[in-house]
Amino acid sequence: MKRILITGAAGFLGSHLCDRFLAEGHRVVGMDNLITGDLENIQHLFPKEEFEFHHHDVTKYVHVPGPLDYILHFASPASPIDYLEMPIQTLKVGSLGTHNLLGLARNKKSVFMIASTSEVYGDPLEHPQTEEYWGNVNPIGPRGVYDEAKRFQESMTMAYHRVHGIDTRIARIFNTYGPRMRVRDGRALPSFFTQAIRGKELTVFGDGSQTRSFCYVTDTIEAIYRLLMTEYHQPVNIGNPQEISVLDLAEMILQQVHNPEARIGFYPLPEDDPKVRKPDITKAKKMLQWEPEISLQEGLKKTHQYFLNKLVPL
Ligand code: NAD
Repeated sequence: MKRILITGAAGFLGSHLCDRFLAEGHRVVGMDNLITGDLENIQHLFPKEEFEFHHHDVTKYVHVPGPLDYILHFASPASPIDYLEMPIQTLKVGSLGTHNLLGLARNKKSVFMIASTSEVYGDPLEHPQTEEYWGNVNPIGPRGVYDEAKRFQESMTMAYHRVHGIDTRIARIFNTYGPRMRVRDGRALPSFFTQAIRGKELTVFGDGSQTRSFCYVTDTIEAIYRLLMTEYHQPVNIGNPQEISVLDLAEMILQQVHNPEARIGFYPLPEDDPKVRKPDITKAKKMLQWEPEISLQEGLKKTHQYFLNKLVPL
């Protein structure tokens, strides 16, 4: 039995990771300051003896008594509306938070993993994106706070690996969706579901020709788990290479929800919005013997049910 610290435990990915590690028979210490997370995501874990929760901001000194075999740093505002509203907290959790947790990993001799992102590629000039691509990020644009925090986080993690020999992992995660996403997190998929269920206009930015690649949450969690179990220190892309335009996604969700009052509306593109996004997952396939299993059609069906339940009481 291992003991694992998961930061961002009350969030979307963090809470699914807690479930997964507990299901594997390990002990989990969840840590979160709840700025975007929701205790409802981990409410079911509180009665378990193998689970403990620390309400704490990781940008402050982090102290966890007892051994830690793994530290997974998943805390960060993660959706555009969150990091645009909290630019300084976003930079701090990627920099100070990562530094604090690397110090803890050094002290406890833990394996250390970060949740990096496809946003390190910015508005990419190479398509699809391989791990060797260095990216095209505007450091002073409004989105730069998230992209640069994550780029710094990767640099700091590699520096601790090189200088202090910490056993590190870098997961470059592409758009993930599924149950426990927040209704109002500002990303296209939850917005479209909410708007479609409520019979409103689906807010497509620009002409909707920009592309994204969406990976269902159980596939992402499986890849994260497998990456942790390797001894590979370089970044690995985790995502679904099935690329779709934002307009096609809106149409698929309209079909899935089937609300005759809902329709599509076009709005101006936000600044620095990436035009294309698609992971090259050759490395993940080879290193992790992994590729996504849930198709977009199947994943949207499951996610529709989640949003229906979530929106009924409102
Ligand atoms: P989320 O907002 O649902 O979860 C993030 C959690 O971190 C929240 O519970 C929040 O309260 C917590 N948090 C933020 N700052 C904190 C701090 N200073 N101290 C302690 N807790 C703090 O987001 P998510 O979608 O679950 O993302 C989790 C991680 O994965 C993030 O690091 C994100 O950048 C990364 N990621 C997510 C995706 C995705 O598609 N969901 C894609 C790429 C990378």
